Amino acid sequence: MTGPAPLGGFSHRRLNPLTGEWVLVSPHRTERPWQGQQEPKATAPALAHDPDCYLCPGNERAGGARNPDYAHTFVFDNDFQALQADAPASEERKGLLVAEGESGRCRVLCFSPRHDLTLSGMSVADIERVVDVWVEETIALGALPDIGSVTIFENRGAMMGASNPHPHGQIWAARHLPNELEKETFRQGEYLVRHGKPLLLDYLDEELREGERIVFANDDFCVLVPFWAIWPFETMVLPRRRIGGFDEMRASERTSLAEALSRLTRRYDQLFDAPFPYSMGFHQKPVDGALHAEWQMHAHFYPPLLRSATVRKFMVGFEMLGSPQRDLTPEAAAARLRG
Ligand SMILES: [Zn+2]
Ligand SMILES: [Zn+2]
Repeated sequence: MTGPAPLGGFSHRRLNPLTGEWVLVSPHRTERPWQGQQEPKATAPALAHDPDCYLCPGNERAGGARNPDYAHTFVFDNDFQALQADAPASEERKGLLVAEGESGRCRVLCFSPRHDLTLSGMSVADIERVVDVWVEETIALGALPDIGSVTIFENRGAMMGASNPHPHGQIWAARHLPNELEKETFRQGEYLVRHGKPLLLDYLDEELREGERIVFANDDFCVLVPFWAIWPFETMVLPRRRIGGFDEMRASERTSLAEALSRLTRRYDQLFDAPFPYSMGFHQKPVDGALHAEWQMHAHFYPPLLRSATVRKFMVGFEMLGSPQRDLTPEAAAARLRG
């Protein structure tokens, strides 16, 4: 399905080995006429400090707490947590009606005191401070007795529902594994038993051999458009050695990860010459104290933009009811991202 392979020009489906799900690829359709919805083009905020922003240093938040005059990063409990620390662990079953108590913590991490910056505008050294907090939070939250998973993510841009342009991300720790982690843990475990190697290390070897979906690589990380990508410019950030979670990262790898995130987010902003919206996040091993030799940590970037800064992809129709579908091939997307 790469280069001159016979399926390349025809509708086909590709397997995501991490989840066991398929994506439909329709490369013959890229030139179809399009008259859909136009979104407003995103613009960057002009103010370095916004007196009305609840994330800027020194400002008051909705719950009444006041932010410190932080100089780099600032992490705090979300004032409106989706997960409660004191939710009971009990289970309720009545036939097919099944519910489980889900305790957890929701933390907010300001990446910078500057209201007008984003990851793409921050220095590598400042992004590295963000990576350091991801490591600290993974270790601290993972040590809590009721926590089984730590999910780190960022919604960037109004198109992705980000409530505030101030550069920030979230850290949600939960008792159970959320759906995506559950699927990936199962599939990676199955692969390790069958092949004796982590799935994503074997996958990266294959991608490095083929080359056409690689966007760039540094000493410790590789950025690529996955073979099974759903979103037009979806990417994955993969470590080059086995790293199960943030707690296993070496100091030099934190620098390399910061460098990779800087390069990727800058490249995204250049693609349509506008602040590039996305949901991004890290998947890492469950924090249940087990070794999890099957697990390879990684980041997913899911940007919604399709062909310009104002035309987005919608996941509707067949995609909601059947499988996700894309026209632009992952190979063509990677070539665009390499620039
Ligand atoms: Zn702000
Ligand atoms: Zn994942």
